[in-house]
Amino acid sequence: MNDAVIAIDIGGTGLKCALVDVATGAIRHSERHPTGADRGPERVAEAIAEVASGLADRARADDLTPKAVGLVAPGVIDEAAGVAVWSANVGFRDVPLRDLVAKRLGLPAVLAHDVRAGALAEARLGAGRDAGRVWFVAIGTGIAAAYVRDGRTDSGAHGASGELGHVVVRPDGPLCACGQRGCVESFGSAAAVARRYADRSGHAVTADEVVVRAASGDADASAVWHEAINALADGLRIGITLYDPDAIIVGGGLAEAGPALLDPLEAAVRRRLTFQTMPLLVRAKLGDEAGCLGAAQLAIDMVAAT
Ligand SMILES: [Zn+2]
Repeated sequence: MNDAVIAIDIGGTGLKCALVDVATGAIRHSERHPTGADRGPERVAEAIAEVASGLADRARADDLTPKAVGLVAPGVIDEAAGVAVWSANVGFRDVPLRDLVAKRLGLPAVLAHDVRAGALAEARLGAGRDAGRVWFVAIGTGIAAAYVRDGRTDSGAHGASGELGHVVVRPDGPLCACGQRGCVESFGSAAAVARRYADRSGHAVTADEVVVRAASGDADASAVWHEAINALADGLRIGITLYDPDAIIVGGGLAEAGPALLDPLEAAVRRRLTFQTMPLLVRAKLGDEAGCLGAAQLAIDMVAAT
């Protein structure tokens, strides 16, 4: 019987779940469930434990021995304590999710931040496979990042490392939900692109549509997209200056724009660099499975350490 780990990526709308073979790293089974965040944090935590328990049963039925559980969630995660401190999308506040699941299944568990786990997966298995130092930048509704060196991330002293979205690039800019003004996220996130276009044009469309309209000559869309690219480039310049990475891997929903994002972004970053070396700027490879695969990697690490 092969050993397997249970991986669950907890998102605002869905749970992405997988059974991953410890020896080969291959996904043996995957399933998705609604998060049901409106049920409240206790019921959601209970449902996650239930899903994990079902996956452990499924593993045994498939001649796999479940060895550990990897959980990842958005927001502020105290990885050392295994507590989801604050996840706005899921409704978690100080939920001791790791121990809750570990107790229910009788298996060791690990809880980590979804973007850091996704970064780990991209660095080990995806677009960063050949790079020793990878900076993963997820541009979606919000913006977060994680630096991976030799297949390891660091959550920071307080679980709050990598908040690229809240790096200030326009000190006189709009007030951000975080309390600062002119954060990268206020211009460069998918939510900001859609909001700023709606404010200018009066049309409520998705960020993807703004990108399409910018390419076809819509002046409002072009202006908003240009500001987004410039704010993102200012943020990336700071990261390049601090980390000197081999590669920057761009993931998240906005990365689906592909060359419409990466080409102008690369040019804008290059224009800003003087002494720094331009790293490879590439699109993430694992798509929306990165978080789940990262959760599995963390669980596999835990099995290997015991
Ligand atoms: Zn902010």
